[in-house]
Amino acid sequence: MNKIKRRNTNQRKIIYEIVKSTNIHPTADWVYERAREKIANISLGTVYRNLKVLVEEGKIIEINDGKVSRFDANTSPHHHFKCEVCSSIYDLPEENLTLNIEPLTNEGFTVNKTFIFLEGVCPSCKGKVN
Ligand SMILES: [Zn+2]
Ligand SMILES: [Zn+2]
Repeated sequence: MNKIKRRNTNQRKIIYEIVKSTNIHPTADWVYERAREKIANISLGTVYRNLKVLVEEGKIIEINDGKVSRFDANTSPHHHFKCEVCSSIYDLPEENLTLNIEPLTNEGFTVNKTFIFLEGVCPSCKGKVN
């Protein structure tokens, strides 16, 4: 492995560890702030590119919250809930939601994956609104 390649691999490993260390579904900006503490002179572009590679490799998933891309190291099947008040993204276990795909199957669609993205107000913000 040449020097540049090794450096890229190390950077990607650090970026992956940062995403893995949290369950807040961070944005690229958030990951960049943490990465800067560990890798001198890293740019936001480099962080973004590495996140995209990790998505392609299937190590992390990318979710769009309607405004920005957010990243998740939890690649097991699960759904998401976004709080409109605090912008937190919560993981929802797959078994907590049932989706009836039968009508789609009847129309000839083959469903291989389901990602459900819900929006509303989370329990901790519920008391604050109204
Ligand atoms: Zn909230
Ligand atoms: Zn998640």
